[in-house]
Amino acid sequence: MSKYPITQDFLPDGLNHSGASLEPVGLTIHETATPNASAENESAYFHNGDRSASAHFFIDQDSIVQILPEGLRAWHAGKQANTRFLSIEMCHFDDEERFAEVWARTVWLAADICVRYGLNPESDQLHTHAWVSETWGETDHTDPLSYFTAHGKTWADFVVNVVNEMEEISMAKLIDKHPNYYNYGVQAINDLAARGLLTGPAEHIETLKKADENSMDWLSLVINNRIAEKAGIKKA
Ligand SMILES: [Zn+2]
Repeated sequence: MSKYPITQDFLPDGLNHSGASLEPVGLTIHETATPNASAENESAYFHNGDRSASAHFFIDQDSIVQILPEGLRAWHAGKQANTRFLSIEMCHFDDEERFAEVWARTVWLAADICVRYGLNPESDQLHTHAWVSETWGETDHTDPLSYFTAHGKTWADFVVNVVNEMEEISMAKLIDKHPNYYNYGVQAINDLAARGLLTGPAEHIETLKKADENSMDWLSLVINNRIAEKAGIKKA
């Protein structure tokens, strides 16, 4: 289940895209540089004329609108990028609250795409239009960097937020897809004991066995174990 709904309103065949297929190996983040235009406004703009440009997603303070399927190329940053990457356009708002909502939605969608396509957000697989311009020189846009700066944010902030969101998405999938929570709990208990963070693992396993099936005890064990792993606490 999506944290934020996505409205799909695909462009007709041939309008502002060629119909060529895309196997995404990365994601480009843009900003529209059109103050106060909503995602719906942007979608209408690309539906209502030949713009010789497009993007997959537009995100404003209360919606995400997708105008091209992920399996088709958008015209967002020159040929090298278009043939490789998905694209998100962040709508432009000076208002801090609106910006915060756009940011949160963009972080979530970027994380969702990274999880689904196995992309590493801490590599060039997640990048700005500025990075594309610098890498291939087919465009001279430097978005969304000045938009981030205007709101006291950096690209590094964005990447950190995406990494954390990916962790949340993975955890949600773990809860959704694995009803055998007990096994995860036992594994976490054994790992925590091996890290020297928990004594008497057998007793904890007994407690877990008796826990109500709706109890989230297993999850807090798994989370603690992940935190310990991230903190670099090795297993003996
Ligand atoms: Zn751009």
